[in-house]
Amino acid sequence: MSDNGAPRIVIVGASLAGVHAAQAIRRSGADAEIVLIGDEADHPYDRPPLSKQYLGGDWDAEKLLLRPSKDPDALGVEWRLGTDAVGLDLEARTVRTLSMDDGPDEVGFDGLVIATGARARRLPDTDGLSDVHVVRSKADADRLRAAVADRGGPIAVIGAGFIGGEVAATFRSAGHDVTMIEAAEAPLTRVLDAEAGMMIAERHRVEGVEVRLGVGVDGFEIDDHGDHQHVRGVRLADGSTVEARTVVVGIGAIPNTEWLGGSGLEIDNGVRADATCLAAPGVVVAGDVANWDHPRYGRPMRVEQWDNGVDQGGYAGRRILADLAGEPIDPFDPVPWFWSDQYDWKIQFAGIAGRGREIIHGDPAEGRFAQLYLDEGGAPCGLLAVNRPRHAIKGRQFLTSAASADEIRDALA
Ligand SMILES: Cc1cc2nc3c(=O)[nH]c(=O)nc-3n(C[C@H](O)[C@H](O)[C@H](O)COP(=O)(O)OP(=O)(O)OC[C@H]3O[C@@H](n4cnc5c(N)ncnc54)[C@H](O)[C@@H]3O)c2cc1C
Repeated sequence: MSDNGAPRIVIVGASLAGVHAAQAIRRSGADAEIVLIGDEADHPYDRPPLSKQYLGGDWDAEKLLLRPSKDPDALGVEWRLGTDAVGLDLEARTVRTLSMDDGPDEVGFDGLVIATGARARRLPDTDGLSDVHVVRSKADADRLRAAVADRGGPIAVIGAGFIGGEVAATFRSAGHDVTMIEAAEAPLTRVLDAEAGMMIAERHRVEGVEVRLGVGVDGFEIDDHGDHQHVRGVRLADGSTVEARTVVVGIGAIPNTEWLGGSGLEIDNGVRADATCLAAPGVVVAGDVANWDHPRYGRPMRVEQWDNGVDQGGYAGRRILADLAGEPIDPFDPVPWFWSDQYDWKIQFAGIAGRGREIIHGDPAEGRFAQLYLDEGGAPCGLLAVNRPRHAIKGRQFLTSAASADEIRDALA
């Protein structure tokens, strides 16, 4: 409780989901004190441009900022930036923090929103290698931009997922020699299907990226200069070496849950929560860190996508207020949605991939098409659209309303 008797809601993670939770609480008109805790020193910014416009130098840092960062006081929260949450005591209802400037502290809460996101997975034994980069934060993108400006190419991108693909496209479009290395036989098999992954791989090849599929990374060729080391190449498992002066690793993300160790919350691929994103009484999760029981798919799901950060963040704000008021709320049941920009391809995907699939519109060879995915029972479960935004939006609406495959084919052919 705050001094004036209003409930205090603490939000940990001052980024996309956390900010949308705060906005939803403020928009509800509820009389609540909000404390927003974030370990980054910067006011919240958007991550998608970090591998696209910002990395390519088309956008400046100002353009990255989320809207509330442009007028931080207007959000009506107590900002605690540069502050790590380091522990949670559910019984005492406190979050332990460690601030860069003010040292350790404890913040009491009536309601807690956990929105600590995820961090980039790194390759083992690369900590001391300054030429090996990841892209998760603005600081990462700044370091990578500076490194490429300083050392130039060739550039090796390890991992042909969405972030790897975007980084490769950004640097190739800027004229660098780029090799993309992927251990699986095709890119994006975890998200889409091998055929769609190969279409994207082909798009990179046409642009002049060397795409190496089905081969893992064994290590790095290093030039040792005594006080510092530089990468000269990436050694692959097939015995070959890819020449590289800068390496970018895009091999997935790990949810930030370490600070919750010993708290009693269930940690399993993120923070586990029920269908209303409640992890414990008075504790709600949102965004990349949330692994909630997704009602639509009947299984736990963790979604690392921008739209989900916005929607689940907003839902978390309403959810925590409902919890504090003892009121019921509908479960969080969205059709997931993401986009990725690579060269002139705008790739948009709604739902989840299924075993069955068919092109229902356009032609992949022309770089404009829509592909419908069907689940094992033959029901539509996903829609991939390349350079067909209307199909993507309509597809999501159809999937949300559980339209039949025929309805979708008829409307989008
Ligand atoms: C380079 C890049 C490109 C992307 N492009 C796309 C795209 O094109 N399309 C798409 O749909 N999605 C994209 N995404 C994904 C999207 O940006 C994420 O889904 C979104 O950022 C998730 O928001 P979040 O608030 O849950 O987590 P995050 O944005 O990860 O924010 C979590 C915040 O919590 C902080 N934090 C972590 N631990 C603590 C702690 N203990 N104490 C205090 N603070 C803590 C973190 O530092 C961070 O500031 C991209 C992501 C990246 C990195």
